Parts: sequence; C-alpha cells; structure tokens
Amino acid sequence: MKIYIDGEMYDKDDAKISVFDHGVLYGDGIFEGIRAYNGRIFRLDDHLKRLQDSANSILLKLPMSIKEIEKAVVETVRQNGLRDAYIRLVVTRGVGDLGLDMRKCKKGSTLFIIADKIELYPEEFYEKGLTLVTSTIRQKGLDQVTPSVKSLNYLANIMARAEATAAGAQEAILLNSTGHVSECSGDNIFFIKDGKIFTPPTSAGILVGITRQVVMELCEKKLGVKVIERNFPRYDLYAADEVFLTGTGAEVIAAVKIDGRIIGKGVAGPTTRELVKHFREYANSAASGTAVYEAVKTK
Ligand code: PMP
Repeated sequence: MKIYIDGEMYDKDDAKISVFDHGVLYGDGIFEGIRAYNGRIFRLDDHLKRLQDSANSILLKLPMSIKEIEKAVVETVRQNGLRDAYIRLVVTRGVGDLGLDMRKCKKGSTLFIIADKIELYPEEFYEKGLTLVTSTIRQKGLDQVTPSVKSLNYLANIMARAEATAAGAQEAILLNSTGHVSECSGDNIFFIKDGKIFTPPTSAGILVGITRQVVMELCEKKLGVKVIERNFPRYDLYAADEVFLTGTGAEVIAAVKIDGRIIGKGVAGPTTRELVKHFREYANSAASGTAVYEAVKTK
C-alpha cells in the first residue's frame, strides 16, 4: 500500500506523522471519506468543496489548491492499482508545540491520503435492514463547532456507536438539543410516510452528506418525489413506513428496528430497495465522478 503525505508516497510502515501534529494532540483537523467505484472517484468535486468549507470554517489553510488535492487523490488511487476503493483524505493543523495556539503550527497543515479496499456491511443487511438505537449522547449544538464541519473530533460519534454495539444495534441516532433527530454516528437519516420522503435540514445539526445529496437528487429524478427537509422527533421514525440511512460506506440501507420498535414490515421496504438499486447504478456510471485511469491516459 502506498500512502500520500505532503507530496510524497510512502509504504504503509513508513507513513508517519509527527506526535507534535495538532491533529494528533487535539484532533485539530478535518477529513473526508470518499469512495471509488469502477475506476471513478465518486463525487470527488463535492467532497473537495466540503473539505474547503470545513477548512474555512476552522481557520485552516489547505496546504495546496483544490486542483492539486484532486490530482493527489487520483494519483494515490492509481498508484495503489484500485478500481473500487475507500479513500481517506485528512488535513491536520500540522506540527506545533504543546499549546492550543494554532499560530505555533508554523509549517502549515499536513495532508495525507490513504486508499484502501472497501469494507462494507454484509449484503444480507441490505435485505434484512439495520437495527438502530437512540444514543444518550446529544448532537453538538450549532453554537459549537457545527456538525457540518467534518472535523477530526469524532469522539462523540464513536461513543454513540459504542452504545449501539452494546445494545446489539448497528447504528445510533443522535438527537439534537431540541430533541429532534439529527443524524446517526456515521450516516444521514431519512424516513418515508405515505409516499413522502423526509430528512432533517442542515439546521438540525448534521454533516451535509454527499450520499444524502445524491439520494435527494435520485428521489427527484427517478422517483419523482422531492425530499422534504424538516425537523422531526423520534416519533416520526417509529411511525414511518420506511426508514433508511445514507453514507459513503453504507450507501443506502434500510433501518427496520429502532429502539425496539419494528418499522414498517420489519424488512427493507420497496422504496428503499428501489433507491439502493438506483444508487448503485448511478455510482457505477460514468457520470458519478472523476476517472482515475482514463484521466492519466489522456494526459
Ligand atoms: N453523518 C456523519 C456523522 C458522518 O460521519 C457521515 C460520513 N460517514 C455522514 C453523515 C454521511 O456523509 P457522506 O454521505 O458524505 O459519507
């Protein structure tokens, strides 16, 4: 495996960053989780836009232009010879001293990229659906570093996921400070009721998922249904016909049991299945993203 760090490729065992990097000391940095399907990097432009927005939001200067980062991502996938991949792009504040002051990170931010094989939920979960529980952990408020920033501080999400695991569930729902549903520990959430499709708005405190955006587009184009973004309580999930999650890793996946309540018929519902199919078709199509190998050939 070849790993990109600040312009150089390293073997896995030699891919190291400083213990004085504020990404390590404080979780001071941002990241993107990106997939490649069939030699194309899924919605790379959107991921890089979100990276730029996260960077601006935390006063982080990216070490190079978006165009250069795009090239580095493509090159990392190419050098690893992958067609289907999970890509982790991380930008940390860089090497500083032991204090909080970001001005001490004089050399600037560190950027690294890992491209690995993808690990997925077993296929049976796409039929059977997932079990969810509500976490005791509240989503960060909008007056904190908003959940829309994909920051390296994932401790709350990790703790929420641990609660799900302890309860025998696969994912945890995070409610926000007003008790509305925001998202899951690593996925956005949707529900379907009487043919209408709903998802929490950005103002509920969510990561604005790339998969969420694609699914909203597919709902409109393929199902002729415009997704409604509005706040809702857990009750709406319990009373839903179908609930599904979206995320880079999970793609589109049904949730069939929430806090012990069976949702709909207790298996992946018809609309969710249709969306899974449309999503996979789109992900494997030429329109879905940046070509890795063709891009190199035409240079
Ligand atoms: N919410 C959280 C907290 C996440 O970490 C993620 C990414 N895994 C998502 C939602 C889904 O975002 P995306 O579709 O961009 O992967």
